[in-house]
Amino acid sequence: MTAKPCVLVTGGNRGIGLAIVERFAREGHSVLLAARDEAAGEAEAARLRDQSLDVRTLRLDVGCAASVDGALADLDRAGAEVSVLVNNAGILPDGTLLDMPWADVEASFAVNVLGPLRLVRGLAPRMAARGYGRIVNVSSGWGSFAEGLGGPGAYGVTKAALNALTVRLANELPGSVKVNAMCPGWVRTRMGGSGAPRTPEEAADTAYWLGTLPADGPSGQFFRDRRAIAW
Ligand code: NAP
Repeated sequence: MTAKPCVLVTGGNRGIGLAIVERFAREGHSVLLAARDEAAGEAEAARLRDQSLDVRTLRLDVGCAASVDGALADLDRAGAEVSVLVNNAGILPDGTLLDMPWADVEASFAVNVLGPLRLVRGLAPRMAARGYGRIVNVSSGWGSFAEGLGGPGAYGVTKAALNALTVRLANELPGSVKVNAMCPGWVRTRMGGSGAPRTPEEAADTAYWLGTLPADGPSGQFFRDRRAIAW
């Protein structure tokens, strides 16, 4: 782990999360690639370190409160200063709200909403104390009331909740800690499928932009392609 200010990306072992890890690292940041499967995360981190990029792995199952607390304790022990948190990990179980297995409803809220909030509660107070922080919540247009709350089952509802968290947290945090949500668009990943029009690298651009906002940048807003969109 690293003692200089770093960027923590959840679900960093593949898809959009991996592209976000790589983008920050190529721009010269120290990055913690958080993954629930440590071996999968370390394989990617090692590949990036071989290219002289500063990437380390952090074991973190966002859907498990004990794992989140364990990762926060690991960060403390290492003296790591997380200055940017990208809540990217997400799941999209099939079904409808009425018939999907209850375990999938609970998992959707645990991974897409409660894990991100628990991480923010652990990390944001330290950001505030240090006078700098950027939090990026990777949401979805399916979580937008203005776009009709789409997607299967609990997904859109959980992303709407993540959006609501974004607004409330921006109100509670000082201006030095900015928290914004973003929609990556429809992206070619395991979740988005091979027919999606966008690359993970294109999706990572707005996450990078929000994670490096200047002091007069926005907070408590929702973006796609660096442009504000309606909740
Ligand atoms: P993906 O290819 O399915 O990757 C999801 C990532 O999240 C994986 O690294 C996965 O790790 C991780 N993850 C899932 N559950 C986790 C848990 N409990 N703890 C830690 N990590 C966990 O999805 P993606 O397309 O890259 O999506 C990334 C984000 O963008 C998600 O929040 C998603 O909702 C959002 N998004 C995607 C699209 C799209 O078109 N792809 C559109 C709108 C929004 P494992 O490898 O261990 O499973």
